Amino acid sequence: MNDSRRPDAAELNSRLTEEQYRITQQKGTERAFTGRYLHHKAHGVYACVVCGNELFASDTKYDSGSGWPSFWLPLAGERVRTHRDTSLGMTRTEVTCANCGAHLGHVFDDGPNPSGLRYCVNSASLDFRAAPTSQSDTDEK
Ligand SMILES: [Zn+2]
Repeated sequence: MNDSRRPDAAELNSRLTEEQYRITQQKGTERAFTGRYLHHKAHGVYACVVCGNELFASDTKYDSGSGWPSFWLPLAGERVRTHRDTSLGMTRTEVTCANCGAHLGHVFDDGPNPSGLRYCVNSASLDFRAAPTSQSDTDEK
């Protein structure tokens, strides 16, 4: 909560949808099976909807059946942070954007190999960026 890089609340309020604001800034959760990226399969990268920090690649997205977009690994580097979350009478591990502190979702240890992790992320916290066509294909003159 004392992250100095946290964006200005008023600016975010005008830029994000009500749901995006509630989820990323107030640790909300979208209803299961409602998120726009749940069945999204395009090739690219999922970035933080608040600050644009790239978080997950489509390669690590899988269908966990949970009702939320699920990834078994974030992108390399310090993209996300995890925090112990004891709200709602449960002990879970919250996942936030390492850059701006936006709430993304939770990580569970029942994911597939090789990581065994399931990053369960709200669609509303993400902004998908389609992969550019591969470099070698665009080199033609
Ligand atoms: Zn962010």
